[in-house]
Amino acid sequence: MAAFLTRVKGLFQHLMERPSTVDLKKYTEVLTSIEWREESVAKLTDAELTEAAGELREKALGGLDAHGMVELCALGREAARRGLDQRPYDMQLVGAMELLHGRVVEMGTGEGKTLAGALAAAGYALQGRAVHVMSVNDYLARRDAEWMAPVYELLGVSVGWVDQESTPGERRIAYGKDVAYGAVSEIGFDVLRDRLCTDVEDLVHREPDVALIDEADSVLVDEARVPLVMAGSTEDSQGDPEVGAIVRTLRPGRDYERDEDNRNAWLTSRGAKYVEKALGDIDLYSGDHSDRLAAVNAALHAHALLQRDVDYIVRDGKVHLINTSRGRIALLQRWPDGLQAAVEAKERLDPTESGEVLDSISVQGLVGRYQRVCGMTGTATAVSEQLREFYELKVSVIPPNKPCVRVDEPDRIYDTVEAKETALVAEIVEQHETGRPILVGTLDVAESERISEKLTEAGVATVVLNAKNDAEEAAIVADAGAHAAVTVSTQMAGRGTDIKLGGADGDENDHDKVADLGGLFVIATGHYSSSRLDNQLRGRSGRQGDPGRSVVFAGLGDDLITQYAPDATAGADPAEDGRLEDQTSKRFIGHAQRVAEGVHLDIHRNTWRYTRLIEHQRGLVLAYRDDVLRTDLPAEQLNEHCADRWETLAEDVPEDVLANAARQILLFHLDQRWSRHLAFLSDVRETIHLRALARETPIDEFHRAAIGEFKGILKEIRELAVETFEEAEITADGVDLTAAGLRRPTSTWTYLVHDNPFDSDAEQALQRVRAAIRNVKAGKG
Ligand code: ADP
Ligand code: MG
Repeated sequence: MAAFLTRVKGLFQHLMERPSTVDLKKYTEVLTSIEWREESVAKLTDAELTEAAGELREKALGGLDAHGMVELCALGREAARRGLDQRPYDMQLVGAMELLHGRVVEMGTGEGKTLAGALAAAGYALQGRAVHVMSVNDYLARRDAEWMAPVYELLGVSVGWVDQESTPGERRIAYGKDVAYGAVSEIGFDVLRDRLCTDVEDLVHREPDVALIDEADSVLVDEARVPLVMAGSTEDSQGDPEVGAIVRTLRPGRDYERDEDNRNAWLTSRGAKYVEKALGDIDLYSGDHSDRLAAVNAALHAHALLQRDVDYIVRDGKVHLINTSRGRIALLQRWPDGLQAAVEAKERLDPTESGEVLDSISVQGLVGRYQRVCGMTGTATAVSEQLREFYELKVSVIPPNKPCVRVDEPDRIYDTVEAKETALVAEIVEQHETGRPILVGTLDVAESERISEKLTEAGVATVVLNAKNDAEEAAIVADAGAHAAVTVSTQMAGRGTDIKLGGADGDENDHDKVADLGGLFVIATGHYSSSRLDNQLRGRSGRQGDPGRSVVFAGLGDDLITQYAPDATAGADPAEDGRLEDQTSKRFIGHAQRVAEGVHLDIHRNTWRYTRLIEHQRGLVLAYRDDVLRTDLPAEQLNEHCADRWETLAEDVPEDVLANAARQILLFHLDQRWSRHLAFLSDVRETIHLRALARETPIDEFHRAAIGEFKGILKEIRELAVETFEEAEITADGVDLTAAGLRRPTSTWTYLVHDNPFDSDAEQALQRVRAAIRNVKAGKG
């Protein structure tokens, strides 16, 4: 105990200088009490342990006081010891308690966040709250739920999970448990699907309550802007093969130009003239050909800005998006229709079905629905400002169980990509000879393949991870610490797999052997767009006090530098092998990364300004929909507004059938009207620069238009419903909506929109369009 106290004191002093670091002094007494209580808890039988948790549940309803926290931690620690054969470290308990205070906790890789999170989830559940533990993918959701199940069971807390394959029935059961694990996207898609239910019995979600988010920075910052979309099929609007063929012949510089960061492309006046001629001498910009103009823009985007194997891959005759921030694909993940169709045309693939957006919610909007949000990640400090700004969340830094002794070397900088890769391969060959495991982190799939090829040529066998299958990848990552393993992977952030020295199935001996070689050596082929992502990669090495090393090979030719610090090469004076040792190059790299971080933050902030209002309106519509679905409101309203018709029908149509007909009619119009509203908003958004008056900012103009359009929406829905109710055939069998020409979507599907170029950067893109229009006009003038 004395040693423990000294350690806590030491840590406390050391961490005092860091902001947001958890106040360990506050916890010394609590941790002591937990240890005291632990002794008696250890004597309980399993049944008695569960019973004690049940008693806590009765007392904790509505909140855990200091005593309750101690009891929870003592019981939870014992449950983990019995269920997993792991006694939670003090720092895991501190993490769990901070989660119970609604914080985002920063705990390094391998510190055991899964267990800390489960103890917190159980703590919330014992307070009578419903918890969603959100993971970054299906595989992790299921893995963690099953892994932690014995702990929950001993605490008398029920647990379930959902994945893409779950049936509606299974989902309802899982969400009915005290704690439900699921990928953020899956939980969000269920929210959207529930939005279309016309019968209360079909809903799968309960009221959102507590969200406990794993890899919280990935979800809350990197993925926050990502819209989750539900679409339904209508008549198909396909890519324009004629436009695709024309755009394919365009040359950069002559026919079109790109901006430096490769986010936008636009036709030069020469290119525009050429396209107009090829399409039969039309005037693209006259307004009569807006469909064609949209198709040309999409095709140009696909042609000029999207690279196969970097932005997407083609497999089984289909285009699969790569999420560039995580280097992996998700099922049913597509761009918006126009772009998807254009890429399909570019790759000469059969077009897939397109449809109408029925509803959409951003990850940030999804998280905003919960009463309580908390989360955990290895890298939270770097985004603490954003977490505060966008979610009003505070970060707590939890010190590691054992101090980290990994050595992070200074960057090795080269003037060109070639020189960098030559040096990198040479370093790997040399290190590999010792048998030390090496993890190479690359920036995209194409680079992984290239590096792996070069290594193979140099006689080093590699395992490459490239966005295929989460479960398979997890197994590969887990073995990256084995003797002589060389693993090449894109983005390691959010992979959630622990890398043990000596391999996943290695014993103490294997561990020590690799530790003696210096542990895992992490080599990055360049800096990511944020230092946080760099740290995620580094953090794979040096877990739980293991030795380890990390280094970044950076090049002045790296995209990050050419995009954000294009002047870096001026005055660089490389050695013969291309190496740069001067401080200026180093500064340029740091500068480029900060600029990139700033750009991303601006985009996030900007998108949020647009979506916040939409989420708000969505909330209002949903609240109304909920009433329509669950209460007598539809019957009351239609009875009130169509009293005569109601009376006439009520002779031979039973009251409950009539009430349900009223409900179905209202729901139909509500859903359709909302979908139309979303389409309206996205139109406004895309043309906002053209509409905005000189004295107003685009966002103000957007707000004005959105609020104006929304104002009469509920009244309009009611009027449409009244009209249908007056005219539709309603019998004892209910209302036949289809006969009345009111067709609900026959099929629906969901997808994520990553890096939607027409949305997140709409403003910038539109400036380009305007510039292009000006160019064309000037050219024609
Ligand atoms: P993180 O998510 O923080 O990176 P994990 O939850 O994946 O870490 O856990 C990393 C490894 O540490 C796992 O193999 C887990 O079994 C192990 N572990 C977690 N807590 C303990 C503990 N208290 N004692 C021993 N091993 C633990
Ligand atoms: Mg984890």
